[in-house]
Amino acid sequence: MNSAPIMNITASDHRIYRSRRIVIKIGSAVLIDKKSGLVRTAWMESLAADVNRLRHAGIEVLIVSSGAVALGCHRLRINHIRSKLKARRPTSAIGQIMLAHAYQEVMFHNGITTAQILLSTDDTEQRRPHLYLRSTINDLLKLGVVPVINENDTVSTTSCSFGDNDRLSARIAQVANADTLIILSDIDGLYTSDPRCNAAARHIPEVKYVTAEIEAMAGNAGSSYTSGGMVTKLAAAKIAAAAGCQTVIANGLEPNPIYRIDSAGSCTWFCEVASSLTTRKRWIASSLDPRGQLILNSGALQALIAGKSLLPAGVIEVIGTFERGDVVTLHAPDRALCGRGLITYASHDAKQIAGLKSREIETTLGYHRSDEIVHRNDLVLNECSIPK
Ligand code: GLU
Repeated sequence: MNSAPIMNITASDHRIYRSRRIVIKIGSAVLIDKKSGLVRTAWMESLAADVNRLRHAGIEVLIVSSGAVALGCHRLRINHIRSKLKARRPTSAIGQIMLAHAYQEVMFHNGITTAQILLSTDDTEQRRPHLYLRSTINDLLKLGVVPVINENDTVSTTSCSFGDNDRLSARIAQVANADTLIILSDIDGLYTSDPRCNAAARHIPEVKYVTAEIEAMAGNAGSSYTSGGMVTKLAAAKIAAAAGCQTVIANGLEPNPIYRIDSAGSCTWFCEVASSLTTRKRWIASSLDPRGQLILNSGALQALIAGKSLLPAGVIEVIGTFERGDVVTLHAPDRALCGRGLITYASHDAKQIAGLKSREIETTLGYHRSDEIVHRNDLVLNECSIPK
């Protein structure tokens, strides 16, 4: 087993150690040895040691790893950089099995059980697969497993692809409700301009908001100065921030890449994040297709306005067919729209418990998921339903 070198824990290390759930994104430039074209297994061993260190601190870890296309290209002796999307499908199919094998061998050797998840855009962008994905991730983490995630490049098309694993990792952070996204790259974060062509470029250790000025520092996609591009990393940091997750871009080339993030100046933190509750409510308010309607009695409406959850007793009627977790609209007794929320029970069960006391849920349904039919953290009221 590989052990982390002795280093002092500094302020930024504490930032990582304050996390509850971390997504680590590993780029091909970090994982694959340029000369041999194969996985850097000694480096991966050191990553496993870092992952164990996080897990011992009670932090859950997910990995988003690139490398499938690079490995497949190497096996077929195709130039990785020049390979087109069409070539990506077969090469990724060849390389993904090699990548999964490497993770399985090395992580298992370090006492870590891994699980492979391959995703297409629909799996994170559409609500139902998104919910299944979230629940699978939660189940795996509860089992103490480290999910290793990649895009399912075998079915990606120009119009239907994450395009890069930076954005995929941010989506995963969003789906999994992670609080820290670590992007391991071959550069130690953001500079005022490309440090490879401009000796005067200054490193930026911390970014509050990704403004137009910050984006300009990353250049454009074609001229960006890391393998995946600083542009896509900033896009990822923005997505993660909107989901209440901080991001750190760090140089991951050296062994023990997570442990090293604490040495000053070696990374860029993006730390200003939306509160996760606000983000969740924004998502509910903007959901496109509510699946059902709940008509509430006036007492329940008053309770919601006072900041309480919706209990089955406050529901007069349930309309529509929906699953647990779907968005439903909430209506006043005169049917005026007063808000939206995520429903805790599927329509079949919601119809049976409408009007009942919460303690009657178990005897009526044979199970009890929660006292609330819509929890207050999962509902948004229209402005007009709140008295001035
Ligand atoms: N999914 C691709 C792979 O496994 C990587 C995409 C990226 O480099 O961002 O090779």
